[in-house]
Amino acid sequence: MKKYTITKKFLIQEYLRNQKTMKEIAQIKGCARSIIGAYLKKFNIRTRKFSQKTIDACKQTGLNNKRYSKILTYKTLYRQYVINKKSLTEVAKFIGCGRSTVGKYLNEYKIHIRSIRESHLGGHHKPHSKPSWCKGLTKYTDKRLYLAGKKSSKSKIGTHLGIQNPNWLGGISKLPYPFKFNQELKEKIRKRDEYQCQNKECNMTEEEHLVVYGRVLTAHHIDYIKNNCNENNLISTCIQCNFRANYNRDMWKEYYQEIIASKGVLNGK
Ligand SMILES: [Zn+2]
Repeated sequence: MKKYTITKKFLIQEYLRNQKTMKEIAQIKGCARSIIGAYLKKFNIRTRKFSQKTIDACKQTGLNNKRYSKILTYKTLYRQYVINKKSLTEVAKFIGCGRSTVGKYLNEYKIHIRSIRESHLGGHHKPHSKPSWCKGLTKYTDKRLYLAGKKSSKSKIGTHLGIQNPNWLGGISKLPYPFKFNQELKEKIRKRDEYQCQNKECNMTEEEHLVVYGRVLTAHHIDYIKNNCNENNLISTCIQCNFRANYNRDMWKEYYQEIIASKGVLNGK
């Protein structure tokens, strides 16, 4: 690579004091603009986003960015946004700039920006087609929603209570736990399980459990029968895993029974 004698002093003099642009300095040195940029970066000199000329011009028009002012004229925007009913994003794509820039220029020209509701209800949809679902619709503006709400709410009330619930087990959840299911037994189970949630994908320790839930690990009845307080039927789990085991009961029963079985082998040794 060709080496240029560009010093920090020179750059400070030309770029900062004389407010020359990178392009102008590059012309003096006979190199590419990007090389000046690289040297500015190397010397930790902060580069300007816009030249002083651009900033002055922007101050006069009140716009932050002068780049698009020739393309984003009032006429263009009015034609695209108001007459053709294009969205901000579509106009931005058409021009090749950001969406927010289009918004800024619309504000500048005092063209009303449509809200979401306006753009979907009275906007660019074909006159005889219904608006699509979930696009700013309410039951007051679309009859379909009103009817659907009426249908479902009337027919579904009370259909999942008690015996009609697929998880219904005969009202056993309200039975009390037996006397022998006490703190001593639970402590024994947790000790056996080394104070860890026995779900292999969880393995939460009791310390973590105390921090997160403010209580010790729970003792879960593997076969869901509260009276069966056999140690082989109890296993330590975190609250989450205990709750999870309320669904897919057969799967979880098998899963924890296998773990207990493997423990039995280990203890036997
Ligand atoms: Zn767990």
